[in-house]
Amino acid sequence: MSFRLFDVPETEASHFVGFAGNRINRHSEKRSDDVVPVALANASARMLLIGQGQVLVAQSGTGNAFFSLDEAAKFQPLPNKTIYLGLQDDVPVLASPSGLDLADLPEPIKAIDYRSVYVQGLIPPDQLGAMAQAVSLLTWHENHKFCGRCGTETLMRDGGYRRTCPNCEAQHFPRTDPVAIMMVVHGDKCLLARGPHFGPGMYSCLAGFIEPGETIENAVRRETFEETNLKVGRVLYHASQPWPFPYSLMIGCHAEALSGDFTLDKAELEDGRWFSREEVVTMLDRTHPDGLMTPPPGAIAAHLIRSWVASGV
Ligand SMILES: [Zn+2]
Repeated sequence: MSFRLFDVPETEASHFVGFAGNRINRHSEKRSDDVVPVALANASARMLLIGQGQVLVAQSGTGNAFFSLDEAAKFQPLPNKTIYLGLQDDVPVLASPSGLDLADLPEPIKAIDYRSVYVQGLIPPDQLGAMAQAVSLLTWHENHKFCGRCGTETLMRDGGYRRTCPNCEAQHFPRTDPVAIMMVVHGDKCLLARGPHFGPGMYSCLAGFIEPGETIENAVRRETFEETNLKVGRVLYHASQPWPFPYSLMIGCHAEALSGDFTLDKAELEDGRWFSREEVVTMLDRTHPDGLMTPPPGAIAAHLIRSWVASGV
C-alpha cells in the first residue's frame, strides 16, 4: 500500500507568513517560577519592551527590538510583569511592559504600533515572531488579572505561562483564539470581500472565530454561509499564522462553494464579488486599474490568494 500522508505539493506554507520567523526555543517543559529572575541575572539577556499598543524599536540601520538589559533599564521595565519568552541562540529573551510614557523617547528609539511594525517590516523576521509571542502573552495577562472561578486577583507563574489563584488554587493558562480564514472558490473564480474598516481598495478572504465544539471545516462552512449565504463543500487546510491582535491563531483554508449565487451580510461586509485569476494577479501586483488590492504580502490571506493563483497555472 502506498503511503501518501506527507505527500504534499509544496513546502510547509505556514513557514512563509508574517510572524512565522520566531526562532525562540520556548523550553516549555523546563520553565520554573524563577525563570525570569535567573534570566535577568544573565548579562547577555535581551528584552522586548511593550506599551500602549506599541513596541520599542531602535531605528538605526536594521530595526532592533531586542534591547540589552542595560538599555532596557532606561525604559522602566516592570519586574512583576516581565515574562520569559525562551532562548534564542542560547540567549534568554524576556519581554516587559514599559513604565514610561512612550510619547517622548530619545533618538533612535521609537515606540511603533504593532501593525505598522509588521506591515512595514521594521524589525527582522525572528524579532517580529518574538514580538507576536510577547504581545499575545502580555495582553493576555492584562486581560486576565482575576480568577474566573472566584474573582480573586491571580499571580503570574512559570515565567508568564500560567496564573494561579491564591484563594481557590485554580490554574489559568494563556489562551489562543482560533480564527478560520477562508478563500472561497467556485470554478475558476474566487470570492473576496471588504469590511467597512478596511483600507481603500483592499479586498480579502472571509474570516470568523471558530466556536467551542466546532471543527475547523465546519467553522469555515458556517462563517461562509453566515456572511454570503453560500454553501461550501470541500475544505482544505493551507497554513496558519500567529496573529497578536490580541492572541489569535489564523487558520487558513481553501473552500469550495457549491454554487455561484450569494448574498452578502451587509452588517459585516460592505462589498464582495467573484474575481478572476487575471484580476487577482493585478491586485497582488498593485497594478489593478481601479486601485483594488489584496492584503500585505505577509498576511495569510495573501498566501491563500497566491497559492490559489499558482494552482491554476
Ligand atoms: Zn480563584
